[in-house]
Amino acid sequence: MSAVRVESLDALAEYAAATAGCTRCRLAQGRTQVVFGAGSPRADLMFVGEAPGFHEDKQGVPFVGQAGKLLEGLLAGVQLRREDVYIANVLKCRPPGNRDPQPDEIESCEPHLFRQIELIEPKVIATLGNFATKLLSGRPLGITRVHGQEQALTIAGRSVLLYPLYHPAAALYTPAMLKVLESDFARLPELLGRSLTPPPPAVELSVVAALQPAEQLGLF
Ligand code: URA
Repeated sequence: MSAVRVESLDALAEYAAATAGCTRCRLAQGRTQVVFGAGSPRADLMFVGEAPGFHEDKQGVPFVGQAGKLLEGLLAGVQLRREDVYIANVLKCRPPGNRDPQPDEIESCEPHLFRQIELIEPKVIATLGNFATKLLSGRPLGITRVHGQEQALTIAGRSVLLYPLYHPAAALYTPAMLKVLESDFARLPELLGRSLTPPPPAVELSVVAALQPAEQLGLF
């Protein structure tokens, strides 16, 4: 592993420690603890859910309740374990009564998620549900319209494939949604196998063309 990479592993742990005392929004008052994220700090695949629930708030680990069990089962279906990926949420603190995240809470918490992405450098970010999908795609389109459609984006200065998925908590009680989630999940190995290195850009050709104006003109 390169020195730079080791540095960013330490930086992630340091950032998690610094975040433990976060008071950027009102959720600091009702939480048991900040649920920063868990998994491999050098994962190629990162999941981003919505917010910690009751069990996550108590244990300090994302996706440990029923939705987390389903997520683990889906991961096993593509030969992955929790430890192979990184799991985080849009909000790091539990909203009271598991209500929806509020826009100002999302805005306050956003720098934590972006820093995580910067340090982990995932190739694929699978967003679970509407909140993560809208935040990271920067578009208002809902999960029903965009699930299973990967998009190449630059997030936190990195080229990543954003891959929106239904939230496992929603799929738990809706068999039809679970089927869709399973089939979207099955494409993850293919997406992870894709090289994100773009082909030589067309820009190079136009640079050459710009340097040879006479020959260019001769073409016509
Ligand atoms: N739902 C989420 O979005 N995140 C969790 O950590 C647990 C449930």
